[in-house]
Amino acid sequence: MQQNEMKLEFDSRSCNEGFVRVAVAAFMTQLNPTLEEVADVKTAVSEAVTNAILHGYEGAVKKVTVTCRIAGQVLEVRVEDQGKGIPDVEKAMEPLFTTKGDSDRAGMGFAFMEAFMDTLKVESQVGKGTCVTMTRQIGRENKFERQ
Ligand code: ATP
Ligand code: MG
Repeated sequence: MQQNEMKLEFDSRSCNEGFVRVAVAAFMTQLNPTLEEVADVKTAVSEAVTNAILHGYEGAVKKVTVTCRIAGQVLEVRVEDQGKGIPDVEKAMEPLFTTKGDSDRAGMGFAFMEAFMDTLKVESQVGKGTCVTMTRQIGRENKFERQ
């Protein structure tokens, strides 16, 4: 079974979101993904990183960590911040729930992560931070396409 891991630590600046998304996409190419799989993972990563920057740190410049692991055909992406944390994770994950309704937030970030990945786990402690772990099996559809 193929195994591989990489870790990125970067400043919680919005301009880093694009770079991280592309870095994860580049890392997952070893799984021979379809363009759709790459696009799905990029969207999920982008939502989680944006949340860490906007909600976790609320504009303060601290560190966000993204860890990617490959085990067989499964890609795991973990996005961590040491920011303010989420008081009620279950509620936060409901579609349309947002604590930033005044801005252009739609409250759909977690819903997108859930839709575009196979599994989504959110662990959070108020005042300590948030860890979002997502997995996606890559290459599943390829088998059918090749037939
Ligand atoms: P959208 O993602 O559609 O722009 P949103 O970010 O408010 O809007 P979600 O991404 O679904 O929606 O997140 C829901 C809520 O969960 C946020 O409004 C915020 O209160 C909380 N939240 C999410 N991620 C974090 C985080 N890393 N740290 C602290 N709070 C978070
Ligand atoms: Mg969001």
